Amino acid sequence: MMNDPTLAPPYDVESVRADFPILQQEHHPGVSLVYLDNAATSQKPVQVIDALDDYYRRYNANVHRGIHRLSEEATAAYEGARIKLRRFINAGNKREIIFARGTTEGINLVAQTWGRANLKPGDVVVSTQMEHHSNIVPWQLLAMEKGITVRYVPVLPDGTLDLEAYANLLRDEPVKLVTVVHVSNVLGTVNPIAEMARQAHEAGALILVDAAQSAPHMPVDVRALDVDFLTFSGHKMLGPTGSGVLYGKRDLLEAMPPWMGGGDMISRVSLEGSTWNDLPYKFEAGTPSIAEMIGLGYAVDYLTALGMERVQAHEHTLTAYALDRLAEVPGITLYGPDASKKGGVATFTMQGIHAHDVAQMLDAEGVAVRAGHHCAQPLHDRFGISASARASFYLYNRPAEVDTLIEALYKAKKTFARS
Ligand code: PMP
Repeated sequence: MMNDPTLAPPYDVESVRADFPILQQEHHPGVSLVYLDNAATSQKPVQVIDALDDYYRRYNANVHRGIHRLSEEATAAYEGARIKLRRFINAGNKREIIFARGTTEGINLVAQTWGRANLKPGDVVVSTQMEHHSNIVPWQLLAMEKGITVRYVPVLPDGTLDLEAYANLLRDEPVKLVTVVHVSNVLGTVNPIAEMARQAHEAGALILVDAAQSAPHMPVDVRALDVDFLTFSGHKMLGPTGSGVLYGKRDLLEAMPPWMGGGDMISRVSLEGSTWNDLPYKFEAGTPSIAEMIGLGYAVDYLTALGMERVQAHEHTLTAYALDRLAEVPGITLYGPDASKKGGVATFTMQGIHAHDVAQMLDAEGVAVRAGHHCAQPLHDRFGISASARASFYLYNRPAEVDTLIEALYKAKKTFARS
């Protein structure tokens, strides 16, 4: 029933907000918090906070090891989270859900296992000019080690990928892997992943998707997209830090060597050598983030109950409104495509005021935004800027908070004009 948005009750942002204790407090005395830094990390609902509390108070134990009741309960909750996450992205099998600390770890895992085992000098990995550093640097490290080449799909002036250049790279170069962000954390651009995957496969390449900014905000279906690997971070989707997922197609994961060695990832260890555990444990060495992954399971419950289509629609309305209102402010330059082609991110610069000063003055008005290069320096180079300010929205933001942002920006302009 909840999957059909026409049957669901209207989106009630006030009842959503009531679940987030941090949003109830004042940012400064007498000034409410307007949290617009959701692309950096999201706030947590009481359901997730209580799940962590419950685990530590009532059934804290290591997983997969103990025969005692506490360990059995912890293992059931931890593995229960895996099943929730499998459903959340529509993976075919829970063995395809590798628990990782986040997107950065997911990408490094693929580079260090699949990449090391399958790439040879001269092979090409295609990335893009709009990637977060965590989808550039692991491939540069691999290039130093293996003699591969990394090529980048350029970004067009409107903030979308140059898909003609992408097709040419696939046609002209020995591309073995395409690694691309689903939604840009700076421009908000939603990349056409299903089509890019189709083209990559046609050229004999695999595709890895950085879903750090898509999985929290829109429905993601790994089978409909037909991607080989996809990774995201729990902390950006209402879950705890230290939680995240790497999805991989089972046959690929089966063939990959392990990454970190240690407890839990082995089948048998002798002093002469070792054999590996089955999926997904082959890639989960050591004591994992138990409370965090259980908490992420509760975050997924929360998102699923709201419905990802409705979360996406709510954010779209906010973003369209924010972009319209920002465009009215004199001296503002906006980056990225229009609202119809982007997620909940509004990135801008203000003529004559450094992004850090903008963020500091907004903070005084209770508005939390991010300023800097947002771990995407090549993208900022592309637009000829060193820093930008970014307002990013989530399921608990209200249109009135956009108004507060705009009023605070006018105030900042006035202050700077006087100084
Ligand atoms: N990719 C993108 C697009 C991101 O926005 C981020 C987080 N800012 C990351 C990767 C890295 O995520 P994490 O730091 O959680 O590993």
